[in-house]
Amino acid sequence: MGKILVIGCGGVAGVAIQKCAKCAETFEEICIASRTLSKCEALKEKLEKTTKAVITVEQVDADKAQEVTALIKKVQPDLVLNLALPYQDLAIMDACLACGVDYVDTANYEAEDTEDPKWRAVYEKRCKEEGFTAYFDYSWQWAYKERFEKAGITGLLGSGFDPGVTSVFSAYALKHYFDEIHYIDILDCNGGDHGYPFATNFNPEINLREVSANGSYWENGHWVETKPMEIKRVYNFDQVGEKDMYLLHHEEIESLAKNIPGVKRIRFFMTFGQSYLTHMKCLENVGMLRTDPVMFEGREIVPIQFLKALLPDPASLGPRTVGKTNIGCIFTGVKDGKEKSIYIYNVCDHQECYKEVGSQAISYTTGVPAMIGAKLVMEGVWKKPGVFNVEEFDPDPFMEALNEYGLPWKVEENPVLVE
Ligand code: NDP
Repeated sequence: MGKILVIGCGGVAGVAIQKCAKCAETFEEICIASRTLSKCEALKEKLEKTTKAVITVEQVDADKAQEVTALIKKVQPDLVLNLALPYQDLAIMDACLACGVDYVDTANYEAEDTEDPKWRAVYEKRCKEEGFTAYFDYSWQWAYKERFEKAGITGLLGSGFDPGVTSVFSAYALKHYFDEIHYIDILDCNGGDHGYPFATNFNPEINLREVSANGSYWENGHWVETKPMEIKRVYNFDQVGEKDMYLLHHEEIESLAKNIPGVKRIRFFMTFGQSYLTHMKCLENVGMLRTDPVMFEGREIVPIQFLKALLPDPASLGPRTVGKTNIGCIFTGVKDGKEKSIYIYNVCDHQECYKEVGSQAISYTTGVPAMIGAKLVMEGVWKKPGVFNVEEFDPDPFMEALNEYGLPWKVEENPVLVE
């Protein structure tokens, strides 16, 4: 079928690329690119003997749109799968536009330096207008819609698990179970234990910024903000057990509020253990989560990047993590005039993932849907000029692919609701 260029070679990319390599009829050629060529080469070496796909590697700094453009011109891919960090989204989208190539990612744009006055002015205006203070939002990427339409290329945003699968679950629930969905609670439970007092399951910088920010939810047409970790609930998760979970702001709330007609409230909860929260609060209090440069012994360092260097590499957690994740959505709405609720979720086992691809379940649950999104666009199933969130396409082929590629899901009728 064609050629994919994957930018990024970290935990999520490692899984997505292995899954692409297993679909060599779609991904005949896979080019892996990041700033560190040796990491890309190591993955190429691991996979080469296991797949018919041709694997190549390149070096690129995706902060620079011109470098990505030059790489796309050289590699000539049909699609770019962006599995670098949210900081690179716009540069990679610019390069895709310049070259007329489809684009898929798993996380919405976030500025790396939140002290940059130019970015800050746009951000503060948005906080006032929209009513939420998260550093990331979709406006930056939705602004490419018309240009992607004109160029005849597809931009698929947020094809991970959350956002991604949770958004596809929402489209699927609406298509098959409801006339109108009124309430969505997205529950992200990680029941895994890696044995460290403190470590993050994916990129520490992105993870810690997300968790230390204000929470928020969508209700009756507007955002309601909360203090970080202000709203706590306890839920008994299938195959994991009872866990504390906290309300967070999360990016799919923004797109689902727009794309699920008639929705009255959308909340997102994530489970955290007390040790994680205590460490995080302490690191925040001493300034270790700062993203702006500070002077240290005559040179600039960014505290959160220094912290990242000290923490265990998320990719190294694979062999030590035991337990399961349970991520899904509880929907309440009406069908044929009657109120009803359903819960759609996936349970994923950390050790099973490790056996299959050498990663823990967090990278797995993101990497598999990234591959599926790219596959559907490459095969023309989800191809449409413009920029879209995953819930804007027919969910059925994605739901089938989840069952086929390792993330089977269940539908539970009349689940226990979150108060
Ligand atoms: P990692 O930190 O493990 O990997 C990031 C990769 O990006 C590295 O390979 C790095 O390689 C590369 N990279 C970073 N900066 C650049 C750059 N300037 N140019 C080129 N490559 C770059 O992160 P994860 O794999 O954990 O996460 C990947 C993405 O997935 C993130 O955007 C994250 O937010 C998202 N995510 C989405 C989830 C979802 O459910 N939707 C859940 C979890 C993560 P190098 O240093 O060699 O350049």
